[in-house]
Amino acid sequence: MAMDAREILAHYNVPDAMPLDYAGAFNLEPAKRFSCVTPANELWKIIAALHIFERARLSSNELEFSTHHDALQNVAADLQDLFKFLTDTSVRISIRPRPPILGEQMLLEQFSSQEPIVLFSPGLDSLAAALTTNESCRPVLLHVSTSNIMLAKARELRNSYPVLLADTMVSGDCRFSSLGGGISHTRGLLFLSAAFNAALTLGITRIIIGENGPLMINPSVSPFSVPTRNAHPKLIEGFQKIIQKLGYPEIHLAAMHKDMTKSEVLLGVSEKLGSLASKSYSCSITQGQTAMCGLCFACFVRKTSMLAIGVVEPDSLYEADPFAVDIKTLGPVDQGRVNDLKDSMTYFKQFIIGPHPNDWLDEIPSSFFTDPNAMLRRFALDLFVGTRRYFRLRESKGSTNALSKYCLDAIGEIGSHTLDEREAELGKGTRRAPDQMLLGQSPQSQRGSTASMMASSKGQESQMVSHHRVPKHSIAIDSVLTQHLIMAHQLVRQRSTTLSFRSLISRRTVPVV
Ligand SMILES: [Zn+2]
Repeated sequence: MAMDAREILAHYNVPDAMPLDYAGAFNLEPAKRFSCVTPANELWKIIAALHIFERARLSSNELEFSTHHDALQNVAADLQDLFKFLTDTSVRISIRPRPPILGEQMLLEQFSSQEPIVLFSPGLDSLAAALTTNESCRPVLLHVSTSNIMLAKARELRNSYPVLLADTMVSGDCRFSSLGGGISHTRGLLFLSAAFNAALTLGITRIIIGENGPLMINPSVSPFSVPTRNAHPKLIEGFQKIIQKLGYPEIHLAAMHKDMTKSEVLLGVSEKLGSLASKSYSCSITQGQTAMCGLCFACFVRKTSMLAIGVVEPDSLYEADPFAVDIKTLGPVDQGRVNDLKDSMTYFKQFIIGPHPNDWLDEIPSSFFTDPNAMLRRFALDLFVGTRRYFRLRESKGSTNALSKYCLDAIGEIGSHTLDEREAELGKGTRRAPDQMLLGQSPQSQRGSTASMMASSKGQESQMVSHHRVPKHSIAIDSVLTQHLIMAHQLVRQRSTTLSFRSLISRRTVPVV
């Protein structure tokens, strides 16, 4: 029997219009809440219902949605295909026309902004996307909030970087997404629909996604692994097609790090990251109220990618060290995670010594990546270069488990020449020799060490990799803009929603006072 999407949404307290909060700097409370009432909001609602379908494991195979926006009927089949691709579950979607109800025909003033939206989570990739975009314009940072904790993390991260304080930050409220906990296969789809919804409401035409290329692909590393495809190229292209079919060809998704490994992304902003990077949060398992788990693939990639460019993170950032943990003391779920890491290293090793896996290639739209094979090889090398650096620095401790034994053997198999080459390539962007890096010290003595490792010095700036760009904003300009932001914040408390938001998104050309 078909389920009514509106009943599902009402049951799980999903609002009729996605709330978009202006999340102020300095931990101030949101000054204003905007409601999205465009056709993109209707798409967001269908996708929210599909997301709940997955999260709450609803048993129907048919979903009905009635809407006054006729164009949505054109995208029902596309949504079905994407849902099947992401979850391996078939749901038939029926879009039924209905007349608009009171309030839905309200004409809003059309906003228009040249600045892009940057999808902003507490993770490192989106932080790098925000920092890089900020070099040429003032983006709107959009955090799609799934929990108060992650929203607080994202705000803290943005507020920690003075240069980002001048960028407006808004949050799209999707807290119903935390339903059921754990990993979701449709969260990326929900995020894209929230970003499209926000973009249409704010008159923005460019949505920037910061995910690095290899994790966009996120291949299945063993017969037992079912990877999420929350930033998969097929999802990005499929969603772009939906946007076009709904009549908004001017709105574009841009995956700015699609041809880069995580280490390369980090090198590109290494001058700016500094010790503040420790305020970012990459774990895919825990929800941000504790240290990162250290054992999931997202934590592992973060740790080894940082090590590969010469940054040693404090132990206190992670609950467990996958190379040193005594696996027998772990519960079955965590044991499974360490086994997954071993499977991942086994899988990615093949990109270095062959046979080169090509099972990931089937679903990749042609021409999306420049050279995905070469990128995955570089990514595999980064994992092993980072791992080798870990063992070099920990040599005296000599603690090993099944994962570390496997990795040490694999490093021997790959050979030092191959890893040295990649290390040298990445090393052009680092300023200290790996053996001088600090490791395993107390948080107090570590404080500032990352900053000193990543900080630039005049003599070495020229050695930064080619994709690094020189910051354009001086401190003086930033402080002026920060003042504007504070004033804008006060302004939204006093004026109407429309006027306030126009001031916020166009403050570069229209003074707020
Ligand atoms: Zn984790």
